[in-house]
Amino acid sequence: MAFRIGRGGVEIVALRDGDHTPDWIWHFPKDGGDCEGCLNFGAFLVIADGKTVLVDTGWGPHHEPPGGLTAPAGLLADMASAGVGPDDVDLVVFTHLHPDHVGWNLILDPPVRPRFPRARYLVPREDWLHYNVRDDIHPGIVEQALPLERLGVLQLIDDGHRVTSSIRAIAAPGHTPGHTVYAAGDDTLLLGDLAHHPDVLERTRWHQRFDWNPEEAVATREKLLDQAEREGTLVGLGHFPPPSLGHVIRKDGRRIWHPLETR
Ligand SMILES: [Zn+2]
Repeated sequence: MAFRIGRGGVEIVALRDGDHTPDWIWHFPKDGGDCEGCLNFGAFLVIADGKTVLVDTGWGPHHEPPGGLTAPAGLLADMASAGVGPDDVDLVVFTHLHPDHVGWNLILDPPVRPRFPRARYLVPREDWLHYNVRDDIHPGIVEQALPLERLGVLQLIDDGHRVTSSIRAIAAPGHTPGHTVYAAGDDTLLLGDLAHHPDVLERTRWHQRFDWNPEEAVATREKLLDQAEREGTLVGLGHFPPPSLGHVIRKDGRRIWHPLETR
């Protein structure tokens, strides 16, 4: 059952597209990664200004992380539990073009077509320019992201783009060149892959395996987490355990994750 919360005319629904039990040392090879717990594969719906916006689309049905999924990919079922079908989605936006964020974009049975048939797909320009020209990228990106252009549903976006009047894109480069976070309403930030585990809120200098520019990722992470802590922002981090929504707070001198209560 998807978790939903409404704030000031903006509704946020946390979705889950499976999880797995990772080797955290593999994720944080330089830094030891002595953390525990599952890695969630999340996405969010933001319903605002009369629009239904899907933020990221999970691993989808065709690809998995190394070692496979523990809980299966269930994004569409989670959306259905929130009363939202593929036809209801007006816009699909991406935090970045990694395979665990684009997996439900397209139906691959011929003819290949958008799974969300009414939607435009908004992709951060710097990620499109980076991945569109490479020949060493993950097949999930090749299959689920690159066809968006020839299907006529792609829109490239930049820092500050207004997805709707109350949803705004904010460039947050480092994890990928075009990594983008989304501000929804006055006090919610969907932070993409700014952090993969709650321990990283304190250990901001840990380098995640897929950070494209580790030093830039650290600078971006510290800036946005400092802001979220200072302003008491509701934060969405899809790789954190469900509901993947909570606050970044300071307790006993340490910065920790304070998840929303789900009941
Ligand atoms: Zn990810």
